[in-house]
Amino acid sequence: GREWHLVARPHGWPKAEDFALREAPVTAPGEGRVLVRNLYFSVDPYMRGRMNDVKSYTPPFKLDHPMDGGAVGEVIASNAEGFAVGDHVLHGLGWREYAEVPAERAVKVDESLAPLSAYLGVLGMTGLTAYAGLFEVASFKEGDAVFVSGAAGAVGSQVGQMARIKGASRVIGSAGSDEKVRLLVEEYGFDAAFNYHDGPVVEQLRAAAPDGIDVYFDNVGGEHLEAAISSLNLHGRVTVCGMIAQYNATEPPPGPRNLALVIGKRLRIQGMLVNDHAALQPQFVQEVAGWLASGELKYRETFVEGIENGFDAFLGLLRGENTGKMIVSLA
Ligand code: NDP
Repeated sequence: GREWHLVARPHGWPKAEDFALREAPVTAPGEGRVLVRNLYFSVDPYMRGRMNDVKSYTPPFKLDHPMDGGAVGEVIASNAEGFAVGDHVLHGLGWREYAEVPAERAVKVDESLAPLSAYLGVLGMTGLTAYAGLFEVASFKEGDAVFVSGAAGAVGSQVGQMARIKGASRVIGSAGSDEKVRLLVEEYGFDAAFNYHDGPVVEQLRAAAPDGIDVYFDNVGGEHLEAAISSLNLHGRVTVCGMIAQYNATEPPPGPRNLALVIGKRLRIQGMLVNDHAALQPQFVQEVAGWLASGELKYRETFVEGIENGFDAFLGLLRGENTGKMIVSLA
């Protein structure tokens, strides 16, 4: 089977030469393991950080080893109790066609409840990030005005809709194209949205939220964070989920120039990692499955077909070519 290796550490934007698609033998599963044919794997912004050789919350990818990440596939051979050929599983050995997975790292998923790809997005890691980041980290409450950046992406699109469903007074989103902005307002029910390429974020946000915001869910950092600090009301809260605007930066980016506003407004700015919120998983799945069934919550996925296009899918994600969750399909 083929698998993607990182062969050089990118400086700035990743280049095709930093990656290689290599052939690896497919072997029978060892004791307590299953052999999985991957059907979908996830490409995620956090993977850019793992391409650098720096200590972080997830270890860096090793050079000349297969990369990993979320994947869903079908068990084609089992040497583990409780797993049978034909089972579908969610696991962490993506970026490859075949994965030999320890049974304790594989979670069975049910295709009759949701399409398999949904377990990588709306019912998976990015959905839980939105749910935990809004309700637990930002302490969202009914009547809050919420601004989310990266709003047409996997996490952002769910944040805005969850806030609407739970009674936000106003939901504002920013995204990188007019088509995405339309989607936010017309399909996802945002009250206002803008294209951050159209002009200074601080001005566009002020126009979209004349009474200010109470919560900012940050997927982007940089100019967006500075603008949000300007628009936040007294006792506003910020969930710092991601700062994708700087993932390919080669110099440390400038900080928000208006940070001193944090004092008078008594703002709370808090970072989050989804891994800390696993205890919310059952409640999250139950509530989101209900909203999906009722049609209150919508989602999009962008599929890139074929393992050979894995690198292009990742690069496309960083460039904003996705709407909703970016997924590589091997089916
Ligand atoms: P998305 O589906 O949102 O895809 C990334 C999007 O980022 C692109 O579609 C693009 O949309 C946008 N983007 C890229 N460059 C810029 C830029 N310079 N300025 C503004 N927007 C930009 O990805 P995810 O939903 O998976 O992730 C969203 C964020 O959440 C990321 O920052 C990620 O690192 C973070 N995250 C954090 C987790 C945690 O535990 N802390 C867990 C999961 C995700 P556009 O066309 O609008 O520019």
